[in-house]
Amino acid sequence: MAALAHKLSLSYRKSSPHLHKPKFLPVCSIGYNSSPSSPFTEKHSIERYQRDQWFYKNQQPDHSHVFSCSTPPDPDFIRENDIALQLPELNSLLQVLREKRQGCEDGGDGGKCGPGNVFLVGTGPGDPDLLTLKALKVIQKADLLLYDRLVSNDVLDLVGPDARLLYVGKTAGYHSRTQEEIHELLLSFAEAGATVVRLKGGDPLVFGRGGEEMDFLQQQGIQVKVIPGITAASGIAAELGVPLTHRGVANSVRFLTGHSRKGGTDPLFIAENAADPDSTLVVYMGLSTLPSLALKLMHHGLSPVTPAVAVQRGTTPQQRMVFSELKDLADKISVAGLVSPTLIIIGNVVALSPLWPHSLKDASSMVEAK
Ligand code: SAH
Repeated sequence: MAALAHKLSLSYRKSSPHLHKPKFLPVCSIGYNSSPSSPFTEKHSIERYQRDQWFYKNQQPDHSHVFSCSTPPDPDFIRENDIALQLPELNSLLQVLREKRQGCEDGGDGGKCGPGNVFLVGTGPGDPDLLTLKALKVIQKADLLLYDRLVSNDVLDLVGPDARLLYVGKTAGYHSRTQEEIHELLLSFAEAGATVVRLKGGDPLVFGRGGEEMDFLQQQGIQVKVIPGITAASGIAAELGVPLTHRGVANSVRFLTGHSRKGGTDPLFIAENAADPDSTLVVYMGLSTLPSLALKLMHHGLSPVTPAVAVQRGTTPQQRMVFSELKDLADKISVAGLVSPTLIIIGNVVALSPLWPHSLKDASSMVEAK
């Protein structure tokens, strides 16, 4: 087990040589509500929302308690220290697991000594009522939960009091953990016999990299169980009253990513066959590439007046929506200042929503909150 703890720190050292050793705290120290633990392991991390620009309406952040001097510290510095702060906590969890396991190996426990299970759990788009019962049961019995930024705080509130939560999310320009580090963490804890839950926003197998994590762990002999979640397209369509398919209006639906695998800005080579008036197009991660996608869809024959909607933080109290015809959607999104996570639905079915505004020239095409 010491080897496991060692392995855990090694996994950081391999990819990020500076992470295993905390730097000196600067004079301008970071105050996390004077809590000794890392904000990444707290359920109610205002810092997480500040970083992700997900401010709750009534919880505007008070920067004065976060940074005790006028110049905000470098984000790299915060990241390194958060991870450094977190390692002792993780290692002590491994220690507890080791003690439990020692009893089992000595025959004292009479229980199983095999590796623990890893559950890949979809948490839906944000509203905790959209969790499945199966997800809820697994969340409540987990020893360790790894979550990313799409998992809402309302869902994290359901986690049992003895479980450890670990933030492993990524945000643009603020990358907390590499995919390889996440793989190593999942493996280390599963090998120590823990019930490990990897929480993913929406469905883990829809643009969730769930397949990669499953593949890695299965190759290491760890059993992975997948619990599906309501994908953003389904949750948000239901919220808006948009039927993704509708007899005589849309006979198919296509989920598309706006992101390119190579990180480029124009991955939309499929726009030609996606420009189908009888189909609904749902674009995930599409904010930055929308201007180019919209032009391409219109170039390939989709009508410029095709109804469309962009929904930020759908199904949560922070939901914001912009309804528009395709030709104006990118501009309206930019005026409204929508940020990630935002889902875009394009197709004639959008006009079937009871929220579709009668006059798109009205300011009412922007709908603020639920
Ligand atoms: N596995 C997730 C998708 C992850 S990709 C799922 O099945 O829903 C991340 C993208 O999903 C975001 O960029 C955004 O386009 C979309 N998304 C997820 N949750 C969302 C939400 N609550 N509101 C708006 N878009 C959301």
